[in-house]
Amino acid sequence: MHKILVSRCLLGHRVRYDGGAHGPFDQLQQWLDEGRVVAVCPEVAGGLPTPRPPAEINGGQGAAVLDGRVPVLTVEGEDVTAAFVDGAEQALRLVREHDIRLALLKARSPSCGNLENYDGSFSGVRVPGEGVTAALLKRAGVKVFNEMQLDEAAAELARLERD
Ligand code: SF4
Repeated sequence: MHKILVSRCLLGHRVRYDGGAHGPFDQLQQWLDEGRVVAVCPEVAGGLPTPRPPAEINGGQGAAVLDGRVPVLTVEGEDVTAAFVDGAEQALRLVREHDIRLALLKARSPSCGNLENYDGSFSGVRVPGEGVTAALLKRAGVKVFNEMQLDEAAAELARLERD
């Protein structure tokens, strides 16, 4: 049985930067019931508190953070790059431990976002890009979906289970 890495905030865990959470999602409950879910919050795993100041990637590209080219900064200007990279590496360890090929991560998060991100100006401007964890998982060959792509994620899981 294939396991799925899931952002903790999508499972109702109150780990968002503002102390909030998301859900419930019927599909995630089904995966929980099946014992497939491996939960992670990379920012909390990386040592950041909840609540915490919002953070954005300078330019919105998680891959550039992994390559050491840009930082992740809080709205107050604190450099939290090390915590973000540490959390991403912990997520990758879980992926390897559980032989995970599929992740369902929160959209537009500087850690978890898989398609777009805020641009680092803290003005609500979105750019195509991905969070630090999503970028590291994609490099490792994991297919990353967000909570608006649950149908696509379920279809990918069905394909994996058939193979
Ligand atoms: Fe944690 Fe990712 Fe959810 Fe942010 S989006 S609270 S890093 S699980």
